[in-house]
Amino acid sequence: MSPLSTYASQLPEAGLKAALACERTAIIKAVSDSGLKGRGGAGFPTGVKWNFAAAARGDRKFVICNADEGEPGTFKDRVILQEHADLVFEGMTIAARAIGAKEGVLFLRGEYTYLRGHLEAVLARRREAGLLGKGVLGSPLDFDIRIFMGAGAYICGEETALIEALEGFRGEPRNRPPFPVNTGFLDCPTVVNNVETLAWTACILGNGADWFRRVGTERSTGIKIFSVSGDCARPGVYEFPLGISVSDLLKEVGGEGAKACQIGGASGQCVPAKDFGRTIAFEDIPTGGSVIVFGPHRDMLEVLHNFLEFFVDESCGQCTPCRLGNAKLLEGLEKLRAGTCSMAYLRELCQLGETMQVASKCGLGQSSPNAFLSVVEHFRDEIMGRIPSHA
Ligand code: SF4
Repeated sequence: MSPLSTYASQLPEAGLKAALACERTAIIKAVSDSGLKGRGGAGFPTGVKWNFAAAARGDRKFVICNADEGEPGTFKDRVILQEHADLVFEGMTIAARAIGAKEGVLFLRGEYTYLRGHLEAVLARRREAGLLGKGVLGSPLDFDIRIFMGAGAYICGEETALIEALEGFRGEPRNRPPFPVNTGFLDCPTVVNNVETLAWTACILGNGADWFRRVGTERSTGIKIFSVSGDCARPGVYEFPLGISVSDLLKEVGGEGAKACQIGGASGQCVPAKDFGRTIAFEDIPTGGSVIVFGPHRDMLEVLHNFLEFFVDESCGQCTPCRLGNAKLLEGLEKLRAGTCSMAYLRELCQLGETMQVASKCGLGQSSPNAFLSVVEHFRDEIMGRIPSHA
């Protein structure tokens, strides 16, 4: 049985009871001591985020669960919501107690509408059991959670775009600062955490920080939940300690013989076979959990084409480097595939990608050229074979 399942079945609500029995500062200290970092991919320390929101001035504060899981190749939050919704809501209630919030929102990906009935039923059961509502478990904490449906835009996984959508506006990233922990939903202090992050906070409060730290690395503690897909014998959702090497992960999922892995989704890194000794951890290869395996027969330019089409569709269009840059990269890739891209033009495309990484406003545009640049770097033979003077 996995650590998350074991906790859920053996220690129901132990984290919440522990949180209600201690000072807010002790809750934040436990989460900080565990070393938990955001499981959505950004890797920001959860305890630091909660501490900022707890210290922020404001009578009204919010806890938002980011369930807008849209990164290509990522489907582990869907499974957590299906199988461990109680843990996620428990984590939200603990966060509310830690920062002093009364209101929570679960922002659910539009494509996961079919989960809404199940999640509403879990919320209703929790209200009935006194785990939500006025005076949670007889304590002074008043807290409830509502579900808000996303409309299918990838960019709303970015926390400020998510908040804009929640306020009824077009989902576009905001300038930062100010950060949501100070000026978030309705300009109130707001904590936005990923589904998996919140589930782990419940486990940490129930079992202690040392329990979480017992696996992983010094800078990347604990277990991470992965969505594994592509050319492997056993695709699915897995729990592995952070710090696992790419080759060990591939052995577990039946992906030996792969020529590359895309780690972290379309915006992540394309890791070639020669680098499979590297580790999946915030200090080496960070990820929100997506691992896409590419077998020896895969055409990496076709893979790139899929990713770039996705980014052209999903760019919110607010800033020029991303809006035009992704379209130009796609156009260049089409020339490459058609055998009409010169070496000089390829160099310009790489410079464009590097400019996008530093000049785009948000993470989408900053990371969308990653796959292009890493395929050019690591699969030179495939690329050079398509350039006329090198063919
Ligand atoms: S980087 Fe892309 S998604 Fe982000 S604000 Fe700019 S146009 Fe929008």
